[in-house]
Amino acid sequence: MPDALQFQRLGKDAIVPIAVFGARANRLAKLRQLGLPVPLAYGLSVAAVRGIAAGHVLDIADLLQNFGERGIVSVRSSPADRKWGGPETLLNVGLNSEIHAKLCHRLGEPAANALYYRFIQDYSIHVARLDADAFSRLPDGAAVDAETLHRALAIYEAEMDEVFPQNPVRQLTQVLRSMARAWEGTTARILRQARGAPEDAGLGLIVQRMALGLGTGESGAGTVQFVSPLTGEPRAHGRYKSQGQGRDAAENMAAASFITIDARGSSLQATCPEAFDELQSYAEISRVGCQDALQLEFTIENGRAWLLDAAPAERSIRAAVRISVDLAHEGVISREAAVLGVEPLNLQQLLHPHIDDKSPRDAFAKGLPASPGAASGRIAFSATAAAAFAAREEACILVRPETSPEDIRGMHSAKGVLTERGGMTSHAAVLARGLGLPCVVGAAGAKLNMRDKTLTARDGRVFREGDLITVDGTNGEALVGEVKMVEPDLDAAFSTLMEWADDYRDIGIRANADTPADARIARKFGVDGIGLCRTEHMFFEEDRLTVMREMIFADGESKRRAALDRLLPMQRSDFTELFEIMHGLPVCIRLLDPPLHEFLPHSREAMQELADAMDLPVSQVIARAESLAEFNPMLGMRGVRLGITLPEIYEMQARAIFEATVAASRKGDAVVPEIMIPLVSARREVELVKAQVDAVATAVQNETGVKFTYRLGVMVETPRAALRAGEFSQISSFISFGTNDLTQMTYGLSRDDAGRFMNAYVNLNVFPEDPFHTLDIDGVGELILLAAQRGRKINGALTLSICGEHGGDPASIDFSREAGLDYVSCSPFRVPVARVAAAQSAIRSIKAKQPVTKVD
Ligand code: PEP
Ligand code: MG
Repeated sequence: MPDALQFQRLGKDAIVPIAVFGARANRLAKLRQLGLPVPLAYGLSVAAVRGIAAGHVLDIADLLQNFGERGIVSVRSSPADRKWGGPETLLNVGLNSEIHAKLCHRLGEPAANALYYRFIQDYSIHVARLDADAFSRLPDGAAVDAETLHRALAIYEAEMDEVFPQNPVRQLTQVLRSMARAWEGTTARILRQARGAPEDAGLGLIVQRMALGLGTGESGAGTVQFVSPLTGEPRAHGRYKSQGQGRDAAENMAAASFITIDARGSSLQATCPEAFDELQSYAEISRVGCQDALQLEFTIENGRAWLLDAAPAERSIRAAVRISVDLAHEGVISREAAVLGVEPLNLQQLLHPHIDDKSPRDAFAKGLPASPGAASGRIAFSATAAAAFAAREEACILVRPETSPEDIRGMHSAKGVLTERGGMTSHAAVLARGLGLPCVVGAAGAKLNMRDKTLTARDGRVFREGDLITVDGTNGEALVGEVKMVEPDLDAAFSTLMEWADDYRDIGIRANADTPADARIARKFGVDGIGLCRTEHMFFEEDRLTVMREMIFADGESKRRAALDRLLPMQRSDFTELFEIMHGLPVCIRLLDPPLHEFLPHSREAMQELADAMDLPVSQVIARAESLAEFNPMLGMRGVRLGITLPEIYEMQARAIFEATVAASRKGDAVVPEIMIPLVSARREVELVKAQVDAVATAVQNETGVKFTYRLGVMVETPRAALRAGEFSQISSFISFGTNDLTQMTYGLSRDDAGRFMNAYVNLNVFPEDPFHTLDIDGVGELILLAAQRGRKINGALTLSICGEHGGDPASIDFSREAGLDYVSCSPFRVPVARVAAAQSAIRSIKAKQPVTKVD
């Protein structure tokens, strides 16, 4: 490649693609196009830098002559994405004894010495690779006298057996070579790949005329952004170092000045108001021109501000929302761009307390980030201990090997949950997300001894009941002690962004809400309805659990019915409350799903308690529990199989739903309940349940004299149900894909045990992602597409949705709308994430004008 193509002036008319010259070069060219004062700069292409690393020689003299005689330059890295890092900037390249002498005249000896000394030191350490300690005893900054300078030159000479290079062409050649090679080094490669860089990621370099920052008049360097990184409101944020260069201000905050006038110390605004005003106007020009709030890296040379770089302003998620909304309000960007500018998953940080970034973290266990947010509290090893802490109004964290329905009471009492075992859709994970509790599951390495009541960390530290810990469900870590939190804060910008998202999204967002509390949260977050009410959770309340257990222990249908009659009013009031909270929005209620033994106690102690409560010998309780035990409960007597074999349970639930429909419709909006049958695999199952539910509907209408309509549908959770979706849709109004079970059954992978090896599987790229977290589009996705096609072919009005945990995952939402599903249903706290993710998916597909693979 001819040299002319290998470096390119970053001038007004230059075409500087990111892929060829890197992001920084592209931005500098853009700033120059905006007429901003960027010192003369040349970009070296990725190909040129690769060539340099491989030993090719570039015509450096030709490049340097553009900077004129005595031109002093900096060299900066320009990867395609700044997150990938890159070799450190080298300043003052080209300085030698002759130029130093001239600078002594122009800037005065202290400044000239400091500049030359800095270059000798940086060149020796970063290019000649001399030991940094050799220079550490020498003072830095402005206080460099002639003797110090000579000593630095002498150190180089002694170590390298040659005088310090005086030829600027040689200096620059060596600097470029060393930076190009540093990029190719193994550690740098591993580091950037960990930050998401592709294997073949290249580096561009920028050679730029130095704005000196040291010398006469007001000179210095700093960074500034004119938005708060925390809130996004307009406010100057940054630091400035008078008589400084590069990152001096950031690296020595104590010696740096504030940007605006500040009672705590000196400021750029007070010292050099003209330069401050210039920077403020440059920030505004670049904000509009680059359509984003930027952080400017600047140097002041004799009172005049120069821009050396501009990167997206630092921002928290709260600030990101505010910045996007403000830019759109001012017409700088479109509303679409504002919605696209926010990372949906990050919105979760706004909805839960999270750990202050600045607090020290002492993690003792790492697991899966099952439910976001963070909480501190005392360790409770049992639901009873958790309830006791709650009664004393002390915050606690429930720590269990894994949770079972017996722990629900403990989860209600706790501020967070930590389990030794379990995956992203394990009991603890699903329930914690519903409750909005921070939760870490599968904390590999931490050993729980329930007999001694100890938790032993991988490093040997032992925790006991009552010890203070913190659960960080966003990062999947458990930390020692109490950690400082930042409380959630939903401001006006958040509401505006949500409204805009709804203008674009074309798929419904419902919530998986089991209780009135869940439903209220979901409504607060702007949900379109309830997509899944798991009715079993209503039976775990203490008073109901006892009646439920009586029903399980009942001998024969009539005794079972007697217990169910006592559950009926409780269920009816649950449903009435849900319907009322949802004000006529659709509510989809799933008939009982889990195997009955989930409602029975597991420990000997709890069995004894139950025996006392039911006035039965404990041996009988144990015998009943044993008779219900299954080798493979997930594939056993659960879901519709329960409804077929013990039909009075579904009958009671159907009655409770219809009576609640009548009650709620009398008071307010007409209710059209949706009844969902879980875990179907054969058409006959649905026929039997449908006949029974229809009969109950007729009976309730006759008894009350109130007419109502309802919708009956199935949950497709088994591969067979997906394949036979055509048959099901003849007798169903809707199909909801239970993607947790569908994933489990498609892979033959236990959702409760997968946590044990999932990290290894993902790390080894066996699975690209945890399929319980992000929908497996290739396999499970194909079953969904197939089922959707077959279902809609038979029943054009069939409503389609997903209601597994994938409903809150942006990639899975994207798939769902591309597949033509009507809605996704997710945990209440995921609703804002899902609204924005759905809007982004819609905007992207309009923009790309892709043919949408809708099911007809
Ligand atoms: C599912 O399987 O995806 C589902 C929603 O049901 P559950 O998680 O209650 O089994
Ligand atoms: Mg299921």
